[in-house]
Amino acid sequence: MARERHRREIWMRSDPKDFELVSPGTLPAVVALLARSPGEWLPIAGGTDVMVQYAAGKLASRKLVSIWNLAELRSIEVLANEIRVGAGCTYSNIREAEVIGREFPMLVSAARWTGGIANQNRGTLGGNIVNASPAADSLPALLAYDAELILVSVRGERRIPYEGFHTGYKKTRLAPDELIQAVCLPRRFSGYVSYARKVGSRNAQAISKVCIAALGRMAGPTIEDVRIAVGSVAPTPMRLSETEFLLKGKVIDEALVASARKTAAAEIQPIDDIRSTARYRAAVAGNLVAEFLNLLRADGKA
Ligand SMILES: Cc1cc2nc3c(=O)[nH]c(=O)nc-3n(C[C@H](O)[C@H](O)[C@H](O)COP(=O)(O)OP(=O)(O)OC[C@H]3O[C@@H](n4cnc5c(N)ncnc54)[C@H](O)[C@@H]3O)c2cc1C
Repeated sequence: MARERHRREIWMRSDPKDFELVSPGTLPAVVALLARSPGEWLPIAGGTDVMVQYAAGKLASRKLVSIWNLAELRSIEVLANEIRVGAGCTYSNIREAEVIGREFPMLVSAARWTGGIANQNRGTLGGNIVNASPAADSLPALLAYDAELILVSVRGERRIPYEGFHTGYKKTRLAPDELIQAVCLPRRFSGYVSYARKVGSRNAQAISKVCIAALGRMAGPTIEDVRIAVGSVAPTPMRLSETEFLLKGKVIDEALVASARKTAAAEIQPIDDIRSTARYRAAVAGNLVAEFLNLLRADGKA
């Protein structure tokens, strides 16, 4: 019985001879290839998601085009009003970029708790976005920071808000011949309190049951602005817009924290799956919002 299962598992794995891998080496050459037969070639960056599908025998595409280490996707540009993080930057690149740590600490936290060190040396920000898992750790931070994406193809560049890029479970607005070139982070959150947490089965090497990235700015005891994004609680990472609306302009007290917990739990759409239950996720999401508000209240008193 065990031998039969083992044989079946081996049979399920992919065979390299069934796959073609090319590495054109420059961005123009890659987008030209994608344009020739849109949807036929699958870009592979760090491969930490693609190779998992390959190993499981579930990779639909037989043609892979490497975008790993393309210079055009690897830079971190510091401009007057934004920081542009190349989509090919790894989590290690993000952790090491002092300017990102100073101005966008929630993105660095997400990079720090994504997989292990080997994964962080290889996994890229662009891959995390396009893989489009609802549990992806960097995505709530991108929502909270109001990130924009620069997409590139032979038709040129287009720039779109990250919010709305994921249109449903594992669905995106990326055209079949496009790549993400860079993620733009506006440099306008310096006066905000930030709060990011990942709740999983353990602190490292675990997929999120719930993750949150939240920003708030106080004017004395009043919430002047607030942005709360959560992951693993809906088909796509989402902003808690109803909770934000409830909170804006209010003084934080116990009654407000209790209402925010309820509103947050009501606007998410968690599911039961192998990692957790909808009930647990809703309770944790409410707790995280409450923890964030307590932090914000302490800042308002300081
Ligand atoms: C052991 C392990 C642990 C992990 N832990 C976590 C975790 O804790 N949190 C988490 O969020 N993820 C985790 N992951 C998932 C994975 O590491 C991330 O999603 C990573 O960011 C994927 O990046 P990549 O470069 O490896 O993507 P790839 O596997 O190369 O590609 C993924 C998808 O993105 C597309 N793609 C990649 N780059 C671009 C681009 N620039 N433009 C257009 N399309 C592109 C590819 O075509 C493919 O569809 C883990 C994976 C492993 C194997």
